[in-house]
Amino acid sequence: MYRRIFVTLALILMTTASGGNSRAAQSTAPVYVTLWFDTEDYILPQSDDAAKRLAEMLTRLGVKATFKVVGEKARVLEQRGRKDVIAALKKHELGYHSNLHSGQPTPSVYLQNAGWEDGAAEFHRRELQGVRDLERIFGATPVCYGQPGSSWAPQTYPALKRLGVNAYVDESNHVGIEDQPFYYGGMLNVFKMRSTVVRMDLGKPNNLAEAQQELQTAIAALRQRGGGTISIYYHPCEFVHREFWDGVNFSRGANPPREEWKLPATQNAEEIERNYRDFEQFIKFIQAQSNVRFVTVAELKERYADQAATHNFTAEEIAVMARTVQQEISFQKLNGLSVSAADSFSLLTEAALALPRTDKRPLKITPLFGPARGFIPAASAKQLSAVKVRELLEAARHVSAFYQTHGRIPDEVWVGAFSISPADYLATLGALLESAGKTTPDLKREMPLVRGRFTADKYVAEDSPRLWGWVIFPEGFHAPKIMEQARLQAWTLKPALLQK
Ligand SMILES: [Zn+2]
Repeated sequence: MYRRIFVTLALILMTTASGGNSRAAQSTAPVYVTLWFDTEDYILPQSDDAAKRLAEMLTRLGVKATFKVVGEKARVLEQRGRKDVIAALKKHELGYHSNLHSGQPTPSVYLQNAGWEDGAAEFHRRELQGVRDLERIFGATPVCYGQPGSSWAPQTYPALKRLGVNAYVDESNHVGIEDQPFYYGGMLNVFKMRSTVVRMDLGKPNNLAEAQQELQTAIAALRQRGGGTISIYYHPCEFVHREFWDGVNFSRGANPPREEWKLPATQNAEEIERNYRDFEQFIKFIQAQSNVRFVTVAELKERYADQAATHNFTAEEIAVMARTVQQEISFQKLNGLSVSAADSFSLLTEAALALPRTDKRPLKITPLFGPARGFIPAASAKQLSAVKVRELLEAARHVSAFYQTHGRIPDEVWVGAFSISPADYLATLGALLESAGKTTPDLKREMPLVRGRFTADKYVAEDSPRLWGWVIFPEGFHAPKIMEQARLQAWTLKPALLQK
């Protein structure tokens, strides 16, 4: 109930906030629907048949979905000799949904005290086998990953990149921009989609009519915004069980041995048939909408390809960026490109090193992660309030060398014997670039330190037990350090723009 009220409100806000698009453009604006299945239940054998039946139904209907498979689920399919299930799933796109899903400890639990690099290394260590098993069993590298339950953490992103997984698809509230796809951690995220998540509740009275209404409301709202994406997810096990496979075994931190695992109760044959029938009707209804198309995650990656990543930035664009970062450090839209705070950080650093003429060499974004920890002022009686141009440019050379080595923004920037925060460095660099123009900067000049106002982290949720409400977590679990890391990685956050 809570969710439905919220959805309606968000849609009204989205609809009234937009404008400027002509009615004709709105009616033809494309709406993409991405359909994904968290294929995770490795306990109840009937859920193997559910995965097969859904995959085959969708193949028959001409819809390609994404099956995010758990490592243990893939191994269990192999052990049970279910080549038929594997073959049916292989007609769709493969995603990854962690190695053990609800087996304790889940990622947010074992990462709750970790830092950036050690956390990424630990996630990589624990998850490598799952990805390798999926590759062996399905013959493909997963296109995307999404966490079990709400067991999210930012350290997963660099680890996933190392594993060759380059998109994040799930639904939770940790980070997101206006219920549409975005870039974060260097990859496309379909996450925190809220009002643009449409699900037909299985087994509820009047479910099909309600879902059809909800879908049309979401389509209309997206058309007002010039098009966009709808996210639909299910679990194959939902079609056959009465309760989740993990809830009956791993709730509140429980960790029973395999021989004590219980099977969840199942629905009766009539209920199960109705689930498939309703679902098929819902899919056909979506197919019947004009200018609405099912797309895989791989297709979304093309539709939302990051044009900024390959763009050669002009002196004029650098000048706009240099002005903007002195006011506020966040993502910005620049000549139809989406630029993150981290993008600005590498671009302005390289532009400063190219002075006096910022257009004398190609200025391209270096993809960077955010800092590993919050800024801690160095121990000294004096704090900097001004910097010499010579020292700032020297600092920029080190910053560039640092991110070429570590692939991320440094935690602090050294100006002589004093350290400044990455935000203060970027804002001050903006002021230098604005004043330098096309003349050689006066190295002896001293300039005031500009305080950087980093605001991109407002799109990251506050830590609270509610954010971590998944029943598999130990009672009262919450993870302030994970959300602190998440705010630091907001340097990488920016909306994903739909290519026309
Ligand atoms: Zn799951």
